[in-house]
Amino acid sequence: MSNILVQDIRSIKGVGPKTAEMLNRLNIKTAGDLLYHFPRDYDDRRNTKKINQLVVGEKTTIYGEIIGEARRLGGRYKRTIYQFALKDETGRIFITFFNMPYLKNQIKAGACLMVNGEIKKGKNGLEMVNPVYEVIMDGTETSLEAIVPVYPSTEGLKQSYIIGLIKGLLSNFTNIEDYLPKETLKRNRLCGLDFALKNIHLPATTKELKIAKYRLIFDEFFLLKLGLTRLKRANDLNRNGVRLPADEGLGSLMAKLPFKLTNSQQRTLSEIQEDLIKEIPMNRLVQGDVGSGKTIIALISLYQCIIKGYQGALMAPTEILAEQHYTAAKELLEPLGVRIGLLVGSLTKSKKDKLLKDIQQKEIDLVIGTHAVIQEGVSFFNLALVVTDEQHRFGVRQRAALVNKGINPHLLVMTATPIPRTLSFILYGDLNISIIDELPPGRMPIKTYEIQGGKRMKAYDFVRKQLDLGRQAYIVCSLVEESEAIEAESATELVEELANGILSNYSVGLLHGKMTPKEKDSVMQEFKAGRLQALVSTTVVEVGVNVPNATVMVIENADRFGLAQLHQLRGRVGRGQHQSYCLLIHNSKTKVAKERMAIMVETNDGFIISEKDFQLRGPGEFLGTRQHGLPEFKLANLFRHVHILKQAEAEIQDILSMDENLSLEDYPRLKELIDRRFNTVGEDLTLS
Ligand code: ADP
Ligand code: MG
Repeated sequence: MSNILVQDIRSIKGVGPKTAEMLNRLNIKTAGDLLYHFPRDYDDRRNTKKINQLVVGEKTTIYGEIIGEARRLGGRYKRTIYQFALKDETGRIFITFFNMPYLKNQIKAGACLMVNGEIKKGKNGLEMVNPVYEVIMDGTETSLEAIVPVYPSTEGLKQSYIIGLIKGLLSNFTNIEDYLPKETLKRNRLCGLDFALKNIHLPATTKELKIAKYRLIFDEFFLLKLGLTRLKRANDLNRNGVRLPADEGLGSLMAKLPFKLTNSQQRTLSEIQEDLIKEIPMNRLVQGDVGSGKTIIALISLYQCIIKGYQGALMAPTEILAEQHYTAAKELLEPLGVRIGLLVGSLTKSKKDKLLKDIQQKEIDLVIGTHAVIQEGVSFFNLALVVTDEQHRFGVRQRAALVNKGINPHLLVMTATPIPRTLSFILYGDLNISIIDELPPGRMPIKTYEIQGGKRMKAYDFVRKQLDLGRQAYIVCSLVEESEAIEAESATELVEELANGILSNYSVGLLHGKMTPKEKDSVMQEFKAGRLQALVSTTVVEVGVNVPNATVMVIENADRFGLAQLHQLRGRVGRGQHQSYCLLIHNSKTKVAKERMAIMVETNDGFIISEKDFQLRGPGEFLGTRQHGLPEFKLANLFRHVHILKQAEAEIQDILSMDENLSLEDYPRLKELIDRRFNTVGEDLTLS
């Protein structure tokens, strides 16, 4: 079967170059992709009514034949009203369309039509106005007595064509071989793959559809989790890590810390130290809200590595952040004799060459930079610990990329994005997790206010007062679609409005995604140095930037942002000794917007906020899938199908109890499938 499934879509009968192109747009490149192109909905045509059974006010689907030509009922100027008569063997009904003049050419006498809409009482009898309709050219393609799949489609691709293709494909198989072990099916009462795939597309009854869906949702969770668990097992068998026990040497740093670690920081550090003692390379994720003090944990861990004679690397997503870490590291570690290098793109060639040479010859102990540090063939003398800050997906696979280069470092991933536990379990199934769930003492919670658009100027009056006190402010402008260009434009307009208006006596800067890294950097430096008092920005205002003197965060059109994002933005203030404020300006009157704003006003706890966000928006929209590497499920929903997720986990435990390294030798088809999906180093996770 697998041979057929990897066949190019063009080899399928009925697919020409043009349709292949359209199918490609839907990410369908092979027969297998087509088989896994699941319906987005189903049209249950079994419960249709005959015309003489219709009830006024009910939403109903009916089938019938068009009698005669369309009648134009008038409508002035460019407005048109056309009416058709539709009959079945029991009666006749009028179908009225407003402003769709082209229909008179599309729907001809004798055409067979499916319409769905509310039944109304019209002048001439029963009527449906602007119904959803489908012209059924000949009765063979879509049966009136069936549950008909509705597929995600693209312009030019007809539903009936996709249905035809999939029907044809399915008819090639007498029995699709299953990859799940028989015992797994039995234990979890799952139907076979053959049944599942046939019935997800063309179910005879809703019961069969449900059974099929259940099986396929199980598979989505099971395969992902199994693959991640297997990677983790393989890593745990890896004994090539460097043992880095904490010893007396560390004391000189611990004695020098400018503050006492919080209990959470202490616990996290112990967990890291337990990992570092082992030869198994560490894979640990530290989750801690903004400001919870992750940097110091990273620096202590790195020092522990360096005093053992090894090199360490600290990577940040942006140059600004890398520089910030560099400054912090220099202050803390240089007096202890650590040689630190900053590797960023803006170095001159000669400086960069010198630095690369120093890294290679171990004239440098700690390299700080952007992710290019390990991506661009920088060669280390003896790299033993890599810390990445704010990187959301850096797991065992990326480690595999490092291992392929002949290095086997411990790995510490730090993130300020609080992720609900169910989600982090899926996202980071291959990592161990530590959580810093308290802030250093004495932090003043940020005061958050919701401001309706009509009182917008009040917000800026408040900004002025803070600026007059010598503080600084961030002003984030609305999120527009996903276009950086439009965002940049709206930020530019906002700057002009403010700089020529209410903030005309203050120095106002602008930061947006269309600027070059160099331009962004220089604006950020101006703001940090206090030469800019207010910074108008799109959401590019970097995660993690530390400007303690900034005390106000104004967010325009706050209702357009997700809660997690609002929380991230708010985390830019409240970093110094002054009381800080977050002003959420918006015009929305919707219930969801109200709920969201209320949550922001109520709590500063990122974990609570992320749980609520997850509930309000659902995991699909949570934070934006791409950016966070959340695997895309076709059918599974992390919120609604937690029980199936748990079942899949339990099943993996069962398999582990018999096959502790998940060699999967007894299940060659499953092994082949998992190998295929998980062996592509560095690629993002996607299912099938
Ligand atoms: P984040 O977790 O967001 O990266 P940082 O590491 O930047 O947070 O820490 C935020 C601020 O809190 C820094 O100024 C840092 O020096 C300070 N800090 C960290 N840990 C403590 C602590 N235990 N007590 C007091 N201040 C701390
Ligand atoms: Mg940080």
